Amino acid sequence: MVNEDGDLIAIHTPHVPVEKLLFIPDDNIKPEGKHIRVSVSNNPLVDHLIALADLKDFLVPYGTVLEDGQVNFNTYTGNVYNHYDALFNNLLLFLSEGKKIGAKCYCGSMKPYSQCHGKNLPAAIEEDKKAVKKFNDALKEEPAVQE
Ligand SMILES: [Zn+2]
Repeated sequence: MVNEDGDLIAIHTPHVPVEKLLFIPDDNIKPEGKHIRVSVSNNPLVDHLIALADLKDFLVPYGTVLEDGQVNFNTYTGNVYNHYDALFNNLLLFLSEGKKIGAKCYCGSMKPYSQCHGKNLPAAIEEDKKAVKKFNDALKEEPAVQE
């Protein structure tokens, strides 16, 4: 979604029942508002899903949380958010279909997920975290541009 300023608007992590995500419930153990997600399965897809959810949490402070829970990001950060939000939703569906890491990727490439969208996903997430931090730190150093 794009607002009238041309910025991308992303949507908060949807509230999915805990048992569906295979996470230990964390809503009562986050004194500083940080979600702690721990996989209770040995399915590596769950680790990927957690990494994607953690990335989305990491990005939220770079945006402005609106009253309706949507987050307004600058274009760069919004693109990163939307990219991983799509991967998160695809992976969630994939998992809910009972797929494993070696199953054919959800994108239709016919390659195993581990060799396609799952390949180097945690490393890609770490790279994008650094890139987003760098981009937003650089923005802060520039004088504010009035819109
Ligand atoms: Zn794929």
